[in-house]
Amino acid sequence: MTDAIDPVDQPTPRRKPKEPITTINGRPMKPSTLMMGHGYDPVLSEGSLKAPIFLTSTFAFESAAAGKRHFEGITGKREGGAEGLVYSRFNAPNQEILEDRLAIWDGAEEALSFSSGMTAIAILMLAACKAGDVIVHSGPLYAASEGFVAKIMAKYGVTYVDFPAGATPEELDIVLAKAKAQAEEQGGEVPLIYLESPANPTNALVDVEAVKAARDKHFDPARCPIAIDNTFLGPLWSRPLEHGADLVVYSLTKYVGGHSDLVAGSVSGKKRFIDAIRALRNTMGGITDPNTAWMLLRSLETVELRMERAGQNAEKVCAFLKNHPKVDGLGYLGMIKDPRQQDIYDRHCLGAGSTFSVFIKGGEAECFRFLDALKVAKLAVSLGGTETLASHPASMTHLSVPDERKAALGITDNLVRVSIGIEDPDDLIADFDQALAKV
Ligand code: PLP
Repeated sequence: MTDAIDPVDQPTPRRKPKEPITTINGRPMKPSTLMMGHGYDPVLSEGSLKAPIFLTSTFAFESAAAGKRHFEGITGKREGGAEGLVYSRFNAPNQEILEDRLAIWDGAEEALSFSSGMTAIAILMLAACKAGDVIVHSGPLYAASEGFVAKIMAKYGVTYVDFPAGATPEELDIVLAKAKAQAEEQGGEVPLIYLESPANPTNALVDVEAVKAARDKHFDPARCPIAIDNTFLGPLWSRPLEHGADLVVYSLTKYVGGHSDLVAGSVSGKKRFIDAIRALRNTMGGITDPNTAWMLLRSLETVELRMERAGQNAEKVCAFLKNHPKVDGLGYLGMIKDPRQQDIYDRHCLGAGSTFSVFIKGGEAECFRFLDALKVAKLAVSLGGTETLASHPASMTHLSVPDERKAALGITDNLVRVSIGIEDPDDLIADFDQALAKV
């Protein structure tokens, strides 16, 4: 067999351009430019400008030897992962293009896509932990993430230690020492530090740089990655990998999908940690479906535009709400009052986002009157879409959180969570004005 026809050494025909163009005039292109074509070569798909949706469960191998080689990559018998397309639970063209493009936004080595944010979080945690281990996490977390750690991981012998989002370096030192002692007692390790910043729904920020310093002091960084849920500010306004995180988690359902018409998730970051998560996803499933991956590719083309506009709108709406007589306060990152939180913001954030809390004077009844009166904003949970949404976390997303924990986390009955969209800002202000008049 000559080299030229050796099927084992021949790359499988892929949609990937042979030499992706990522620089222009010697400088790297920006993510917003790369979203239009990176990772896809029209020549491999009949010249179709946009990637077709590949509705197939499996891929024909060019030879038996190539099939063997691909499986060696998939199962980890050979370093380097899959070299070709194999089976749609493992990899497929739309998902691979999506993952290549997601990695660009966070400056990550690799990215994985999932059927929901919660699938991403669950597979990340299951891949990291074994019985006896301890997860350290910031609080609050999105209620389902917190429940997954406390209730589901507990079934497999994994316990947790949590700390409040704004914890200082001194407090983090104590928390990590406690987690280490707890793990030793249980015969396990601390294999994951899991953060959410800003936290849902309080917008409290975590000092990722301080968490990294404490992690490096107490644990081996190669065995204890820091993962962070960047759903509220990413990928535009926060770049946690630059502040010491190893993995970034997203509910792509929110700003990245951005149109409230799909559910998906992702994890991106260092390859050595991504490989273990991919191996479990290969076994369990949970990869995005091709249609959703395609829709996300379309969404990524406008993510910067949408987030910029939503951020500008939120600034205007919050300026209006700030001094409104029916408003008791705002949990908006553009108007932080606490100096510690402001310091974390200044070091970690590039923008204040468009999701915030409004504290209405009164309680649940007043909030409900406000929510029921909104005409432009829709009364719905979720965030990050083109349309403005408002909801009442204490009685909706965080209903299952025990009352004492709600109180400790600041999830009060007078808190309305708002996610500002890309409508005309004056229409939004008029809507909030007339709804507040009904309170
Ligand atoms: N993380 C955060 C911060 C969220 O707000 C959510 C959902 O609201 C999730 C994760 C879960 O994502 P999904 O609904 O895509 O499973």
